[in-house]
Amino acid sequence: MSPPPSPNAAQLYEQDVTDGDGARITTDPCPVCDETQATRRFAVERIETPVVVCETCGLGRFHPMLGPEEIRGLYPDEYYGEPGVKFQPLVERLVRWVGERHISFLCRGLDPGARVLDVGCGRGVILGPLADRGFEVHGVEISAEAARGADPRAEIRIAPTLRDADYPEAFFDEIVIWHVLEHLADPRATVEEMHRILKPGGRLVVAVPNFESLQARWSGNAWFHLDLPRHLYQFPLSGLRQLLERVGFHPESDHHFSLRQNPYGWIQSAMNRGHAFPRNALYTLLHRRGADEAPPYATGLRLRLFALGALMVPLALAATVVETLLRSGATVHVVATRSPGASATSRADA
Ligand SMILES: [Zn+2]
Repeated sequence: MSPPPSPNAAQLYEQDVTDGDGARITTDPCPVCDETQATRRFAVERIETPVVVCETCGLGRFHPMLGPEEIRGLYPDEYYGEPGVKFQPLVERLVRWVGERHISFLCRGLDPGARVLDVGCGRGVILGPLADRGFEVHGVEISAEAARGADPRAEIRIAPTLRDADYPEAFFDEIVIWHVLEHLADPRATVEEMHRILKPGGRLVVAVPNFESLQARWSGNAWFHLDLPRHLYQFPLSGLRQLLERVGFHPESDHHFSLRQNPYGWIQSAMNRGHAFPRNALYTLLHRRGADEAPPYATGLRLRLFALGALMVPLALAATVVETLLRSGATVHVVATRSPGASATSRADA
């Protein structure tokens, strides 16, 4: 007899997502394009509010948006794992190795000693290696629990929104917001604030799951990167670029290859589509637990999950290469600049 699954881990990632009724509804203006027509696309277990998709730009979002209390409830301490560690040790080592490959990308063209901000810095996986290379590193986090164990060289502010962190105008040479924008209740306000605190000519790097990607369309409601209900918004790449332009940024380049995110997205989405296991079961298994906590699922199920996951690795890598060649990455990052003298166009109505 195996112990019952950890209720915390299971509640985090097993929450079911089904198709909505597809009805057209009138909404508040879309934060990307101001459209007020949307269709009900998804329903999330235990969440009253549907996820709707904008008829014009394809942005997905809860409508009406979840309230602050409800959003806070989506992030129990277990979400952040042990201090400094989020996954099982082997996976964690891989995550860090792949993460450090990003660092040279983030440093490209930065002057020595440049001031860099990571919005939603978490445990400072990006900030530590940037400090190693002599940059002045800053981070902002909504949760003190999430920032526990971060690199002591990083100057971290804990604030409910970026605006509340109260950085001076034109302060940073580069701002990185890595898989965070989709978690925020008001992403446009955050993009506007990033525009304000970035120096003219400074650079913004923003990564999100791509709601118009091949992987998203193939997976439908089974898509791993929907990460509902924590992802309050589902950005199509085109919608993200539109939002950046609207606020006064100039998108320079899109990047479609992510070894950390995209192959795993194929594996977990395919398993979710098959419905043979609990939703996101492999991810729940890989997620680190407390030392005294029993592993989730019975031994036989754990073995089947690992074996099937391993078998799918070559296929997932091949699919990742294909989606990259088609410029349809399951997750994408966009590099945008703040041009000298450009100003936010929509601050007044934010
Ligand atoms: Zn829209």
